[in-house]
Amino acid sequence: MHFTITHQSNGARAGILQTAHGIIETPAFVPVGTRASVKSLSNQQLHELGVQVFFVNTYHIMQRPGVAVIKRFKGLHGFMHWDHPLMTDSGGYQAFSLGLGMEHGVGKMSNMFPGEHTGPAPRKMPPLAKIDDSGITFKSHLDGKRITLTPKHSIRIQEALGADIIMAFDECTSPLSDYHYVQQAVARTHRWAEICKKAHRKKSQALFGIIQGSDFRDLRQESADIISSLDFPGNAIGGSMGRKKEDMHRILEWVVPRLDAEKPRHLLGIGYVDDVFAAVQRGIDTFDCVAPTRHARSGLLFISPKAGGRRENKWRIQIDNTKYKTDTLPIDPYCGCTVCRSYSRAYLNHLFNMKELAFYQLATYHNVHFFMRLMEQMRESIHADAFAKLRRSWLR
Ligand SMILES: [Zn+2]
Repeated sequence: MHFTITHQSNGARAGILQTAHGIIETPAFVPVGTRASVKSLSNQQLHELGVQVFFVNTYHIMQRPGVAVIKRFKGLHGFMHWDHPLMTDSGGYQAFSLGLGMEHGVGKMSNMFPGEHTGPAPRKMPPLAKIDDSGITFKSHLDGKRITLTPKHSIRIQEALGADIIMAFDECTSPLSDYHYVQQAVARTHRWAEICKKAHRKKSQALFGIIQGSDFRDLRQESADIISSLDFPGNAIGGSMGRKKEDMHRILEWVVPRLDAEKPRHLLGIGYVDDVFAAVQRGIDTFDCVAPTRHARSGLLFISPKAGGRRENKWRIQIDNTKYKTDTLPIDPYCGCTVCRSYSRAYLNHLFNMKELAFYQLATYHNVHFFMRLMEQMRESIHADAFAKLRRSWLR
């Protein structure tokens, strides 16, 4: 992997990440294809949308279809017939979402910032994962079988999956974990990072180290320093980003300046419109998020500022609202995607209400297009030294 920064403007940077399966122009949004598929879209559509890379979850693939099947195809690229860059995670995140996340009744992404959560209190559930120094023992959410994942095992699996960018095995804490717990988790993450680095043999893949530390300044800084000292080809920032959006901004400001400026920086699990601007402004190059695809399936469709998208409506409309029943306009009249060039809100409202399968594809297509176009605008604006202006036009 090779990373070149092509331009910088007010902290934001544009670059080119050269991987074994082609280039990624940054800053880049990385859609999530949890089970080796970006839900409802074909590879051809992903390509047409300008998706440069997507993210596959190791935990899900190792359970179904299982690593043996992927090995028959010499990796995910062959299995999926996708000849472009891919990223995988270590499986460690699931220790959080299936273990601690359930114990504390918060997920990392669904209630990303618990301080901003206004809905009913999340349900508490017994943890499905146990963490100790050797690794994480899960009870499979499928059949209750016990699975132990260690740092070395995670690297072996990710080598077999063959993604271009892979992640070190880490322990992700809940936004509600206390200082003492996070301190231990950070120390464990650092020991595991060293084990991963030693275990990793496949040089065509770039192994990223992961910085943890929740919203504790000294732990985040210590984590940034230790992970940097291990000299991974790239760095990722993971874990809890605090209780509200401002906490994430502070965390990035503590961490990013301590990372090697020449190396790519990935932010795990972040990707709402305002968060994307906040992250790019603070020097993040890539980020993955389920928002555009998951929202599409629940009828939340993104719109640009020209079409009325702003902070208050989170740049989106809820297509099942009765006011769209007779609306002849497309989702976003200023969007150039094939969905907006062909179909009305009234038609999409109807498809959504009837749970027609086509809805999921059309909605996901538009939402992914929205984020791809937003990133393209960001890259152009950085090159033109106009990132701050673009940001103002979206966040005003
Ligand atoms: Zn569109």
